[in-house]
Amino acid sequence: MAKLPTVAIVGRPNVGKSTLFNRLVGKKLALVDDRPGVTRDRREGDATLIGLEFRVIDTAGFETDDPQTLPGRMRAQTEAAVIQADVALFLIDSRAGVTPLDEEIAQWLRNGDTPVIVLANKAEGRAGESGVIEAFALGFAEPVPFSAEHGEGLADLFDALLPHIEAATIEEDEDEFDEADPEAGPLKLAIVGRPNAGKSTLVNKFLNEERMITGPEAGITRDSISIDWEHKGRAVRLIDTAGLRRKAKVEDKLERLSAADTRHAIDFAEVVVLLLDATRGLEAQDLRIADQVLQEGRALIIALNKWDVADNPPALFQGVRTALDEGLAQVKGLPVLTVSAFTGRGLDQLIEAAFETRAAWSKRVTTGQLNRWFEKAVELNPPPAPGGKRIKLRYLTQARVRPPSFVLFGTRVDQLPESYRRYLVNGIRRDLGFGAVPVRLTLRAPK
Ligand code: GDP
Ligand code: GDP
Repeated sequence: MAKLPTVAIVGRPNVGKSTLFNRLVGKKLALVDDRPGVTRDRREGDATLIGLEFRVIDTAGFETDDPQTLPGRMRAQTEAAVIQADVALFLIDSRAGVTPLDEEIAQWLRNGDTPVIVLANKAEGRAGESGVIEAFALGFAEPVPFSAEHGEGLADLFDALLPHIEAATIEEDEDEFDEADPEAGPLKLAIVGRPNAGKSTLVNKFLNEERMITGPEAGITRDSISIDWEHKGRAVRLIDTAGLRRKAKVEDKLERLSAADTRHAIDFAEVVVLLLDATRGLEAQDLRIADQVLQEGRALIIALNKWDVADNPPALFQGVRTALDEGLAQVKGLPVLTVSAFTGRGLDQLIEAAFETRAAWSKRVTTGQLNRWFEKAVELNPPPAPGGKRIKLRYLTQARVRPPSFVLFGTRVDQLPESYRRYLVNGIRRDLGFGAVPVRLTLRAPK
């Protein structure tokens, strides 16, 4: 029987830690008192939250009666509890707003490796809204408005906890970490490309049967349907766009990619494959579509089809590679695979690459890892000082996955040059294992 994932509740006294603990554990195991530092009789219990099971530790039990100093409160036991936990719930009192002690605790948490979820407690009935907003400045992912006493925000807490609980379970099982279960759900894949690139041939090959409609009656509907199949035991859901079904009967002189198809692909897919015709190479059209996919935050793979009839393959490959790197400044090193929808060459690798790309696109790094990297990156290449005034970059946090999105806090960040932002984004991609997925970076100045 695997050990339950552990969740530690932290926060300054009186923010509602014990109330939350009671709600999660479902029994009055911890005493609740208005006075800070009241001794608690129990500190650990098994919690259930909408079916999610985990062990919860209420660090309020470790508070001492010396409320004046942080070390007095955040004692060794609290530290140990947080370090050993799979995730920390950091409570603040959203009615009181962010206090200096909250900031101190935040600073301490940021230096650690434990992922942190900020719960803006006492926010029942939209109370404390400004406190919730203030909590953004603590530098973690989006704070969850919550009320421990009234049981509001439980579903949002569930959503926030789920990836961490799942990650902890995966870690237990196969010693993997830092990925919010990339295997969850079918891989949602879309194939886009100009007419005649070989999209329907490719899909037919995948499905190994003539399931795609290629007759002239197809294409009446512009709606997308999806096709499910399995690749080596893993589920793949292919978004079948209208353009796949509408056989290019009439030569489209402009060879436009249907805007609606691209839209559908972007809306539905986790990973978009842009299929190129190797006998034609990469054209401006293709770059535009690639750019659109990346702008929308989807993971992108380039597949060079008809490799079986490619002329001078090495030169062709190099040409496409260079054109991509020059044409898509925001993402260098996009995966480029060579395939043949005819012979089936490279199709396994294409699906493998799509699964890998999805995993990177879904990946979360801990704030600790991120900031160790960040400190080095800033040391190596400090930000400029426009007009002699230093731009002070304080810390970085990953706010979201799919696509990986980061928030950088600092002063005068509005003056940070674009080149420096690109330096950070490229570094995050290269050093923290995000590969060529689109990475977002937002700059924020704390108030
Ligand atoms: P701890 O010191 O962090 O463990 O905080 P407690 O759980 O003992 O709660 C401190 C006080 O805040 C108690 O009076 C609770 O009733 C109150 N409290 C806890 N959660 C909420 C909440 O969601 N809303 C409001 N309004 N009060 C709360
Ligand atoms: P779509 O318009 O993108 O769906 O392209 P189709 O699948 O209809 O293919 C266009 C043409 O390219 C057809 O004549 C296919 O037979 C041909 N084709 C597709 N894939 C390959 C391939 O891997 N190698 C070669 N030599 N021809 C291919």
